[in-house]
This record gives sequence, structure tokens and C-alpha cells, in this order.
Amino acid sequence: MKDKDCIFCKIANGEIPASTVYEDEDFRVILDLGPASRGHALILPKEHYQDLCHLDERTAAKVLPLAGKIGSAMKKALGCSGFNVVQNNGEAAGQTVFHFHAHIIPRYENGPSMVTWEPGKAEPEELTEISSVLKRELESEN
Ligand code: 5GP
Ligand code: ZN
Repeated sequence: MKDKDCIFCKIANGEIPASTVYEDEDFRVILDLGPASRGHALILPKEHYQDLCHLDERTAAKVLPLAGKIGSAMKKALGCSGFNVVQNNGEAAGQTVFHFHAHIIPRYENGPSMVTWEPGKAEPEELTEISSVLKRELESEN
């Protein structure tokens, strides 16, 4: 399904132009207009899914292999030494376009640090409590 008001539906299906680096029947991969680094790309499914929780399994299974393919090409063609795969779900997580997408961000030697966080501290009791709450939820879904 497409969403007629969704900019990424329009880009993924070729109604709005974008710098396309790859296309197949399920996806279009474009360059991000506000790149975090040179070559920053976005994997867009052609169907509309709000985020990862809405993505169908058949499409989801293709995203990581495609990310690997794009990342390998970036290393060869752009000379980056690595890449991050980032995928935001929900406003609190930084999602600004509510059509599932995965960022492929090339990382260059001596480039700026990004996609990082300050490691916190967790007491063993807290980890036990969190894991039991999550486990219970996951088991209730089966
Ligand atoms: P999010 O914050 O939702 O994970 O990422 C949205 C990304 O889409 C941002 O990095 C932003 O720069 C990019 N973006 C937003 N609108 C457009 C657009 O119209 N064209 C392209 N190529 N990228 C866009
Ligand atoms: Zn969409």
C-alpha cells in the first residue's frame, strides 16, 4: 500500500526525483539530502510502512542483505573504511519521516564521531527486572 501524503512513498515510486543509487521491485536506495557524511544513503521500501514494527517479514528479510550490498559498494566506490546502519523508530528515537527507512552512513578514517552514546551503569537487579518484564511481554505474544 502507498500513502498519498507520504514523501518517501512518492520518492520510492519515482513521482518525486531523488539521487537513486539502486532500485529493484521492492526498494529504492537514494542519497540523503542532509547527509551525515559523504554518500549517506537511505533504503526505502516502495510500499508504505510507518516503521519497523509495521514492516512485513518478507520485506524486512531483504533490508539487511541490501544494506550490506550498499555498504560494500560504498567501501569500494567512495573509499570509506566502514559504515553504520541506523534505523529510527518513533519521534523519541529521532524518526522524522514516518515511512520505514534505513540509513547507510559511510564512515571515513579520521571522520567525525557519530552514532555514539555514553555507556551508562546498570545494577544486576535492574537488568533482572527489565529482562523479566520484557520476557513476559514477548511470551504473551506467542
Ligand atoms: P529520520 O530522521 O526519519 O530517520 O531520517 C529522515 C532522513 O530523510 C533525514 O536524514 C533527512 O535528511 C532525509 N530526507 C528528508 N526529506 C528528504 C527528501 O525529500 N529527499 C531526500 N533525499 N532525503 C530526505
Ligand atoms: Zn510512505
